[in-house]
Amino acid sequence: MKADCVFCKLVAKQIPASIVYEDDATLAFMDLGQVNPGHVLVACKAHVEDVYALDEAQAAAVFRTAARVARAVRGAFDPPGLSIYQANGKPAGQTVFHFHLHVLPRHDGDGMQLVWPVKNPSREKLEAYCAQIRATL
Ligand SMILES: [Zn+2]
Repeated sequence: MKADCVFCKLVAKQIPASIVYEDDATLAFMDLGQVNPGHVLVACKAHVEDVYALDEAQAAAVFRTAARVARAVRGAFDPPGLSIYQANGKPAGQTVFHFHLHVLPRHDGDGMQLVWPVKNPSREKLEAYCAQIRATL
């Protein structure tokens, strides 16, 4: 637990949260800033800052819980769509530096926007990017 981390305090039940689900490794709770009804955050119980710091078991646990919660949100609210968002670092939009993802029910015209400025690089560029990534796996 990190003393100044709001999500660690939620996990420790030091501050209130509307908890949807929890297991040994994860906590799923309602986002105070509901974009749409049923907007849930899934966090690691351990203080892990971002995706880079997740170990294999934590990564598996978080997505297992995300899928479980997504199915439950669909069952409860029957949204026509559902997005999963996860951000790492300030440029990506991360505001709480304790790993979490958003399970977000979606509706036509709900105001959520994701700008996707496609660059369409050449196949040679794609292969070069691919090789760079493979070299660090
Ligand atoms: Zn934390």
